[in-house]
Amino acid sequence: MDTVQLIGKTRDNIPLTAAEIEFLVAAYTAGEIPDYQMAAWLMAVYCRGLTRGETVALTLAMAHSGEIIRWPDAWRPITDKHSTGGVGDTTTLIVAPIVAAAGVRVGKMSGRGLGFTGGTLDKLESVPGFSVQLSAEAFRRQIETLHLAVIGQSEDLAPADGLMYALRDVTGTVESLPLIASSVMSKKLASGADVIVLDVKCGAAAFMKTREEAEVLARLMVAIGEQAGRRTLAIVSDMNAPLGSAVGNSLEIDEATEVLQGHGNRRLIDVSLTLAGAMIYGAGKADDWGTGIARAREVWESGQAFSVWKEWLSAQGGRVDWVGHRPLTQAAHVHTVMAQEEGVITGIDAMVLAQVSRELGAGRMVKEDTISPMVGLRLHCELNDTIQRGDALVTVYSDDMTDEETLAKRLRRAFILGREAADIPLIYERIDGRADLTQ
Ligand code: URA
Ligand code: CA
Repeated sequence: MDTVQLIGKTRDNIPLTAAEIEFLVAAYTAGEIPDYQMAAWLMAVYCRGLTRGETVALTLAMAHSGEIIRWPDAWRPITDKHSTGGVGDTTTLIVAPIVAAAGVRVGKMSGRGLGFTGGTLDKLESVPGFSVQLSAEAFRRQIETLHLAVIGQSEDLAPADGLMYALRDVTGTVESLPLIASSVMSKKLASGADVIVLDVKCGAAAFMKTREEAEVLARLMVAIGEQAGRRTLAIVSDMNAPLGSAVGNSLEIDEATEVLQGHGNRRLIDVSLTLAGAMIYGAGKADDWGTGIARAREVWESGQAFSVWKEWLSAQGGRVDWVGHRPLTQAAHVHTVMAQEEGVITGIDAMVLAQVSRELGAGRMVKEDTISPMVGLRLHCELNDTIQRGDALVTVYSDDMTDEETLAKRLRRAFILGREAADIPLIYERIDGRADLTQ
C-alpha cells in the first residue's frame, strides 16, 4: 500500500478501510513507515477525526501489534478497571479487593505512567516487599485462590501504542478523541479482560476538562469495547476536587486500608462502590448495576474486602504487620496546616494539591524520575464539611524541610470556603454498553 495515498485520504476525510489502518499500524510498528509519515497521518486524524469504524479498526490493530493475553476459560470472566487519571485516585486499591471478595476475578495490568502522583504500581510498591513481577505460576495461584492479581504491564502489550503515544507527545496530536480512545482501549483489549470498567474523569485536574468531552470519550471507548466483544461499562466522574483525602503513594495505601476497614472519604467510597458494582454486574454476578453496587457494599461493610486486602498485599510479598496497627506512612518531616477562617468547604483545588505533591516528590514528570513513596498530602476535611478557625486542614509529609509558611499559604488557598453546603456533583453519568446497544 502507498502510505502517502493513505495520509491523503485521511487528510481529505475519506475513511480508510480496516485493512489500510492495519497496514499503517503494522508497518509503523515494524519500522517500515518513518516517524514523519506517521506524524502526518496522526495530524490528519487530529484535524479530520476518524469514523467509529475506523476508530475500532485502529484500536484492534494497535491491540494486535503485540501479545494478546488469553486467560484460561476456567478463570473467566476476568474483570479490569481503568481510570483516565486524576488526583488522589485511590479507587483501584479499594475496588479490586471488593470485587474479588464478591467472587469475581480481577486481573489487572498496570503501567506506571506519568503524573503528579505515582500510578497503582507505585502505590503498591510503597508497601515494603510488595512485588509487581510475579512468576506465571505465582500469578496463576493467586488468581485461582484469591481471585485477584495486579502486575506490571509487559513491554509487549500493544507496542504500537507506546510508539504512537511518544510520537503524539512531540507532534501536538495527543488531544484527539479517537486517538485517546484507541490508545486506552488497545491496552485494555490486549490485557485480555472480559469485562472492562472505565472511570472517565472530567474537570480542572483531569485530561478532559468538560463533562461533554468526557462523555463523548466514555461513549466512544464503551462502543469500542463492546464491538471488540468485551462487556464494557463506564462512569463520567468529577475531578475538580481530589478524590479522597490522600494524595501520595503510601498515603493512598493508608487511605485504602482505612476505607476497607469501613470508614473514610464519602466521595471516594461512592465512586469505589459504583465501579466495583459495575464489575460485579458486568461479570454477570448481579442482575443490574444497582444490585451490583448493593453487593459491593455488602462485602465492604462485612469486612470481607478488608480480609482480601491483607491477603493480597501478603500474597505479592508485602509486609502487613502495620495493617490495623499503625499507618504505613513514616515520612521524615510532618506538619499540619490549620484553617485561619471558618466556613463550609465548597471547593478543593485538586491542581494545587497535585502540584505540591509533585514538588514533594510523589509523582514523576519524565520516565526517569524516581518517586518518593512516603511523601504527599493528607486532608482532614472534605467537601461540604464545616470548619472553624484552628481546625486541621491538611498534613504535609515530606523528605526534607520545606518552607512551611509559604507552603501553608498555598495549601490554604486550595480550600474554597462558602457559607452553606452545596450540591457538588460526583458521578455525572453511568454508561452501560449493553443497555446502550439495545436502546
Ligand atoms: N492515556 C493513554 O493511555 N493514552 C492517551 O492517548 C491518553 C491518555
Ligand atoms: Ca475522517
